[in-house]
Amino acid sequence: MAKGRKLAVFVIGAGSNILANDKGLNALVIKLGSSCFKEIDFKAKGLTVGAGCMLSRVISLSKNKCVSAFELFAGIPGTIGGALAMNAGVREKNIGDLVEEVQVMDYNGKIKGLKRKDIKFAYRSSSLAKYIVLSARFRSRSKKRQELEAVVRERLSWRRDKQELSLPSAGCVFKNPSETISAGILIDLCGLKGKRIGDACICPRHANFIVNMGNASAKHVLMLMRLVKTKVKNKFNIDLQPEIKIWQ
Ligand SMILES: Cc1cc2nc3c(=O)[nH]c(=O)nc-3n(C[C@H](O)[C@H](O)[C@H](O)COP(=O)(O)OP(=O)(O)OC[C@H]3O[C@@H](n4cnc5c(N)ncnc54)[C@H](O)[C@@H]3O)c2cc1C
Repeated sequence: MAKGRKLAVFVIGAGSNILANDKGLNALVIKLGSSCFKEIDFKAKGLTVGAGCMLSRVISLSKNKCVSAFELFAGIPGTIGGALAMNAGVREKNIGDLVEEVQVMDYNGKIKGLKRKDIKFAYRSSSLAKYIVLSARFRSRSKKRQELEAVVRERLSWRRDKQELSLPSAGCVFKNPSETISAGILIDLCGLKGKRIGDACICPRHANFIVNMGNASAKHVLMLMRLVKTKVKNKFNIDLQPEIKIWQ
């Protein structure tokens, strides 16, 4: 249908990393919301999860089953499909490190299985983004429930400590320029914490977050992003690249 109408096609997970145009999109947006995309199958040799399943749910069920896989990712909002397309993760590990096989549909409607070796994972990106991810099989191992609970607790408390979770945001707006240079520190060194355009504000607690103080529009977020890019370029000669997906 989209091809016939020459419409762009977007896939949305939980939308936690997307900045969409204030006026909406002239596009077909697909959300894998049906229950068949939310199934989780625990097997001795790993777990298979539907792309529409929330990461938090997988972590919670894995804990109950004493299965270690995603606990380091506790507190990352979003779905398994979104996490795979973004290669979401933390300093120690990204979701791509756990992948064994991914079932995808291409934009001609063909479903196929991709083995780990056929998929490219990089920092906050993966070759899966060109498909519709349907489900994936991940490596896992057994671990005591108490140990898993301790990791999840520690991760959630770290996030409460470092990140502004009481206001809406899309998480880190820019990619870190390298493993040793943090975008947040560069933005902070430009004196931009607390800078506000409309209701979009550079978070005083974490300079790489832009938070919505009430009625922020995508336009205002983009204006702040442009300001950040210019200031960081002028001061450090570094070109910050967006981590969030901008849907215009
Ligand atoms: C408070 C906060 C903290 C965060 N912390 C982290 C963090 O520590 N580490 C981290 O990596 N990220 C973090 N994020 C960013 C975000 O949560 C992750 O990137 C998450 O994995 C996105 O999942 P989603 O389902 O919301 O994807 P969406 O935001 O809906 O989509 C993101 C991208 O994935 C694509 N996509 C979604 N589903 C599919 C699918 N089924 N098939 C193909 N493509 C698909 C979309 O088209 C889009 O390009 C944070 C965000 C917030 C708001």
